[in-house]
Amino acid sequence: MTTDSHCIFCKIVAGAIPSRKVYEDDDIFAFHDIHPWAPVHFLLIPKAHIASMAQIGPGHDALLGRMMALAPKLALQEGCRPYPEGGFRIVCNTGAEGGQEVQHLHLHVMGGPRPWLKG
Ligand code: 5GP
Ligand code: ZN
Repeated sequence: MTTDSHCIFCKIVAGAIPSRKVYEDDDIFAFHDIHPWAPVHFLLIPKAHIASMAQIGPGHDALLGRMMALAPKLALQEGCRPYPEGGFRIVCNTGAEGGQEVQHLHLHVMGGPRPWLKG
């Protein structure tokens, strides 16, 4: 698996930086955001180092499909209320103009009662 020894999210996957884990399997890791914008706010990432959505290719279809399919399940597990009263937001910042700060692909999954800190 591709990893980057300087990448903060690769270090989280490896356990070298502690995190509050939400989910883990062979290919995917999820953990609570350290600065949550919403009552529920976790990040869903591939274990492999992929810098951003801009690096996604045909070989990543299954991985991205699994990440998107996991999001609603984990959102409910972490306390988001069911659709339609509850729900959640998925955000994937990509590149400098997309507001991306950590260069390891991640989906923000946010939800819970409003108001939120941001968004
Ligand atoms: P971006 O702006 O790249 O889309 O979002 C990066 C997110 O990663 C931010 O919401 C930030 O709070 C979160 N983050 C950055 N460093 C850490 C960390 O060491 N641990 C955790 N749990 N979240 C982090
Ligand atoms: Zn990484």
